[in-house]
Amino acid sequence: MNSIKKNIENLRNELHLHNYYYYVLDKPKISDYDFDMKLNDLIDLEKQYPEFNDVNSPTSRVGGAIIKNFNSVKHEFPMYSLDNSYSKDDLEDWDNRLYKNLQDNDLQYLCELKFDGVSINLTYENGKLIKAVTRGDGIQGDDVTENIKTIKTIPLKLKGNYPSKFQIRGEIIIEKGDFIKMNEKRLSEGLDPYMNPRNTASGSLKLQDSKEVAKRPLKCFLYQIVTSKQIFKTQNECLLNALDWGFNISNTYKLCSSLKDITEYITYWDANRENLNYEIDGIVIKVNKIDYQDELGFTSKYPRWSIAYKFKTEQISTKLLSVSYQVGRTGAITPVANLEPVLLGGTYVKRASLHNQDQINKFDLCINDIVIVEKGGEIIPKIVGVEIEKRDIKYEKIKFIENCPSCYKLLSKKESEAHHYCLNYNDCPPQITGRIQHFISRKAMDINGLGNETIDLLYSNGLILNYADLYDLKKENLILLERMAEKSVENIFIGLEDSKKIGFERVLFALGIRYVGQTVAKKIANKFKSIDNLMSSSLDELLLVDEIGDRISESIVDFFSIKENVDIIYRLKKIGLQFEMDKSNEKISDVLSGYIFVISGVFNNYSRDELKRLIELNGGKWSSSISSKTNYLLGGSNIGPSKLLKIKKLEIPIISENDLIEMINLKP
Ligand code: AMP
Ligand code: ZN
Repeated sequence: MNSIKKNIENLRNELHLHNYYYYVLDKPKISDYDFDMKLNDLIDLEKQYPEFNDVNSPTSRVGGAIIKNFNSVKHEFPMYSLDNSYSKDDLEDWDNRLYKNLQDNDLQYLCELKFDGVSINLTYENGKLIKAVTRGDGIQGDDVTENIKTIKTIPLKLKGNYPSKFQIRGEIIIEKGDFIKMNEKRLSEGLDPYMNPRNTASGSLKLQDSKEVAKRPLKCFLYQIVTSKQIFKTQNECLLNALDWGFNISNTYKLCSSLKDITEYITYWDANRENLNYEIDGIVIKVNKIDYQDELGFTSKYPRWSIAYKFKTEQISTKLLSVSYQVGRTGAITPVANLEPVLLGGTYVKRASLHNQDQINKFDLCINDIVIVEKGGEIIPKIVGVEIEKRDIKYEKIKFIENCPSCYKLLSKKESEAHHYCLNYNDCPPQITGRIQHFISRKAMDINGLGNETIDLLYSNGLILNYADLYDLKKENLILLERMAEKSVENIFIGLEDSKKIGFERVLFALGIRYVGQTVAKKIANKFKSIDNLMSSSLDELLLVDEIGDRISESIVDFFSIKENVDIIYRLKKIGLQFEMDKSNEKISDVLSGYIFVISGVFNNYSRDELKRLIELNGGKWSSSISSKTNYLLGGSNIGPSKLLKIKKLEIPIISENDLIEMINLKP
C-alpha cells in the first residue's frame, strides 16, 4: 500500500515540475503526449485509491468543482489600491515626500509594469496553495480557490526554500493573442465578442463551473509577497525568491536609483507597451527597501511607499451624427455610430461600434449627442460616455430598427441573445454576399484573385447567388464588368482552380454553417471523414462528438435540412471540391514533434501553405507570432524587421526552407 502512495506522490511531484517547465519557464522537458499519459495514470490511480486524495493534485487543474456561491473572506492584510500619478511633477512630489520622511539621498526604487487584469491574493502554507481570494472591496473578497487552481501559471506546490506561511499577490490576465483567438471563435459561432481582456478575465473567475474556467486562457503575474514578519530586505529580493519558488514573475521590472531612471523606464514602456502580448495601464513604482516600506506604512487608501504612474488613454469628444446598421452573414445586426470625424491617436475616427441594442440603451444615446470616444488597446474606438449637459433640448432618442435595413423583413430578437437577427436567409443581400465572402476568405477556401468588393460586384450584376455559382462564372461575362482587366479575370480562374485542392475540414468551415468555426470544423471533419457521413448523421450521433453541444448539432442538422444547401453541396462536389478527408494528409513522421516554427518572408521552392503542411505532416507545429515558445524562425527573403528584432531578443535561430527539408529527411 505504501508503495502505491509513494508512486502517486512521485507522479504528482513530477507533474507539478513539468507544469512549471512548460507554463512558467516556457521550456517543456517532455512532450505534451508524455505529459498527458502521466496525467492519465495519475487520474486512474486517484480514482482507484481515493484515500490518498490531495486537493492540490495536478489533476485539479482540469477543474470539475461546481461552485454555487463564492464565500466572502476577510483579508488578513487589506488589499489597498494605489495612489495615481499622471506626470513627472506628480512623481517629483511623491519623491519629495519620501525624502522628507526617510532623509535618504540614495533611495532605490523598483519599477514594475502595472498589469491590467484582476488582482488576486494567494495564501500558501507549507508550500501548498490553500486559498485564493479576489480583491473585492479591499477588506474582503470572494474565495475563488477552485477556479484559480485551473490556472497553470499558478503553482499548486512550491519548490525550493519557501517560508512555511505567506501570501502573495498578483494579477490575472488574458494575453492579447489569446483574447483575439477567443473572440474569433465566438464570432465564428455567431456569438458576441467579449469586450476586453480584463473584463473577460474577471468574469472567468466568477464562473460556477471550474471546468469552464480551465478552458479560458488565464495567466497570472505575481508581484507582491505579504507576510506578518518581514523575511527579505528588498522588493527586488522578494521577486527573485518568488521566482525560485516557482512563481511566474515578469522579467520586465527594473531597479532604479533616480527619478531620471524612473522616467526613462516609463517612457520606454509607454512607447513599447503595444508590443507586449498583454495589456498594461501604467507603471508601479515601489520603494525597494522593506524597512522603509514598513516605516512609511499606509494611508487609509494606499501604501505611501508605492505609486502608480498611469498612461494616458486618449479620449476625445465628438458629435454622434447617426447610427447605421450592418447585416452580417449570419443575419446578426450590428449598430455602428457615425461620428463627426476627429483626430485621435494619429488617425481620424469616423465610426465606432455600438455592438448591440444594450450598448445604445446603456448610454441612452440620442442623435447629435456629444459622445466621448476612447481608443484603448483595441483597434476600433469605442464610445465610453455622453456629455448629457450638452444635449439638445429637442433631443431625438435612438430607436433600434425593427426591419432589416437591406431586405426590410421584420427582425427577430430572442430574449437569450444580445443581437437582433434578420431571418431572411435566402433573400437578404448582405447575408448572401457575406456567405460568399466567408467562403473565399483566407482561412476558408483562400481564393486568390477574389476579394470582398469583387463579390459585391458579381452579385450586383446578377452573376452569382451562392458560392457554387463562382465555379460557373464565364470569362466573357467577367470581362464586361467595370474594373476587370484580362489579368484579373485570369487570376480569378486560377484561384478557383487552386481551391479544389483545399482539404475537407476547410471546405466544411467555408460552407458557413452557423456555430461551425475552424476548430469545430476540424473536429467534425476528423470524426465523420466525409460530407456524406456528416449529412446522414442524426442529432444524437453529432452530440456524441467531444465538445459538440446542442447548439452546434442543431445548427448542423438545420443546415442540411435546407434543400438549397444540399443542392449547392452536390454541385460543389461535382465541380471537384474536397468533401472527404484526404488520406495523404495523414502523418508522415514525427521528426518535428515538439518544435514550433514561425514562418516569415518570401520563399523560392515552397509556398507558405506548403511549408505549414510539411511541418504538420511531420509532427511539428507552426504559429503566426513569435514567443519564447518558438523554436525556429523559418525565414525566406524579406523577413519583417519587427520579427527580426524579436527573434534576436529571444535568441531564436533562423533556418531556411532547405534546412527544414534537411531536418525532415533526417528522420530515422
Ligand atoms: P488601482 O486599482 O488603479 O488603484 O491600482 C491598484 C491595482 O493595481 C492593484 O490592486 C493591483 O491589482 C494592480 N497592479 C497591477 N500591477 C501591479 C504591480 N506590479 N504592483 C502592484 N499592483 C499592481
Ligand atoms: Zn435582411
